[in-house]
Amino acid sequence: MNFDESQTMRKFYLYLCTLKFILLIMMQSIFHYSCHFIFIGFIAFLWDKKNWEKGWLILALTMLVDLDHALASPIFDPTRCSIGYHPLHSPFAILFYFIGLLIPNKISRLIFIGLIFHMITDTIDCFWTFSKCRSCFEQSIFYFR
Ligand SMILES: [Zn+2]
Repeated sequence: MNFDESQTMRKFYLYLCTLKFILLIMMQSIFHYSCHFIFIGFIAFLWDKKNWEKGWLILALTMLVDLDHALASPIFDPTRCSIGYHPLHSPFAILFYFIGLLIPNKISRLIFIGLIFHMITDTIDCFWTFSKCRSCFEQSIFYFR
């Protein structure tokens, strides 16, 4: 391999490293929003095969639980774990969502399933962030002193 070839290989390697870094950051967001908007389609399908679009809409509307972020400052902080920080993402609220499953109504059950799934998605996102940010973990509800 001559000098020009090794320089080209070096540039190509740097290009791959940069691409890998960008993809890693994008993957977390893609995974998170896929859970919030695409995966709920499967839940809706399991809920009612004939009316899965209606189920999807109800599940998508449970995203409104994120309106509690409006009470925080800043409204969006990528290093903050929403679980245990925002009022509708608190352990007390999550307990309420589980109790809500006991209400014998098809629609309300789907709403509570959507809220619980939302909390699971946010929890996965928190741990993904913790894997890159130790202080994010230490400031979260999951860190016991
Ligand atoms: Zn959330």
